[in-house]
Amino acid sequence: MYLADYHTHSRYSFDGSEELETMCEQALRAGLSEIAVTDHMDIYTGFGYGRMIDYDVTCGRPWVMQVKELYEELAEIRDRYAGRLKVKLGSELGQPQVNPAAARKFLSDYQLDFVIGSVHNMEHDLDVYYYDFDKVDGAALFDHYLDWLQEMADTCDFDVMGHITYPLRYLFERTGKRISLEPYEEKLRILFQTLVKSGRGIELNVSGLAKPMQETLPPFSLLCLYRECGGEIITIGSDAHKAQQIGMFQKEGQQMLREAGFSYLTVYTGRKPEFVRL
Ligand SMILES: [Zn+2]
Ligand SMILES: [Zn+2]
Repeated sequence: MYLADYHTHSRYSFDGSEELETMCEQALRAGLSEIAVTDHMDIYTGFGYGRMIDYDVTCGRPWVMQVKELYEELAEIRDRYAGRLKVKLGSELGQPQVNPAAARKFLSDYQLDFVIGSVHNMEHDLDVYYYDFDKVDGAALFDHYLDWLQEMADTCDFDVMGHITYPLRYLFERTGKRISLEPYEEKLRILFQTLVKSGRGIELNVSGLAKPMQETLPPFSLLCLYRECGGEIITIGSDAHKAQQIGMFQKEGQQMLREAGFSYLTVYTGRKPEFVRL
C-alpha cells in the first residue's frame, strides 16, 4: 500500500515544534513512501509574505517565518532521504487572496512541489479559531467561509484546497453543535466544479478523526459530492503538528476514498499531479 502524508507541520510553523529529521524518521516508522512538509504560509493584509502577526506560543513574540531556512533545510533533508522516503517541499498557503502580490512573490521565490490553499483567517486577518462560537451563527459562518473558499479558487494559485470544513471543527469543539451540509450543496458544487475545471483538487484531512468531532474534513458525504462533480485529484493529510501524528489514519483515509468512488490517490512533484492507484 502506497502511503503519502500530504499535510504536515514542522518547527518552522508558528504552531509546530518538530525537527524535519524527526518527522522523516517517524514517516519511515509509519511505513510512508512520501511526506510533504506543508508549513504555514499564512498571508496577511498589507504585509510581505513570511511576516506573521500571530504569536509564537513559546515566547509570546510576533512570529516571523524563517522561509529561506525552511526550504534550504528541507532540500538538504530531501536529498539525504532519497531512495528511502520521498520528501516533498510543500506549503499550506493561507488566504492568499488578501494579498495576491505577496502570495505570488512567495510562489515565485521557491520551487515547491505542492501547495495547499487554505482559509484560516477571514475579516481583520482573524483566524476562525479565535471566533466566539457562543455568539456566532454556525450556519451563517460556514456559508460565509464557502464564499472565501470560492474567492480563493477563482483568483489564487494552489494545488489542492485544504480542510474545506475548517469552521465546523471549532463549532463542534466549542458548542457541541453540528450543522447539516445539505443547504450548501449548490455552493459546494460550484466550488468543486471550479477546482475540477482548473485541474486542481481537494485534500482529505484526517486530523478530525483524532479530535472530538470524529470526522474527516471534509466528511464522507462531501467526498462523494466532489467525486460526483468529476473530482479526481485528492491528497490525504494528517495535518500533523506533532511527529507521532504523521501517517495517522492513512489507511482509513484510502478506504474512504475507495468507498467514495475514487480510483487514485494524488501526489505531486514540482506542482504536477501524479496518480497512484488506490
Ligand atoms: Zn490549516
Ligand atoms: Zn495545517
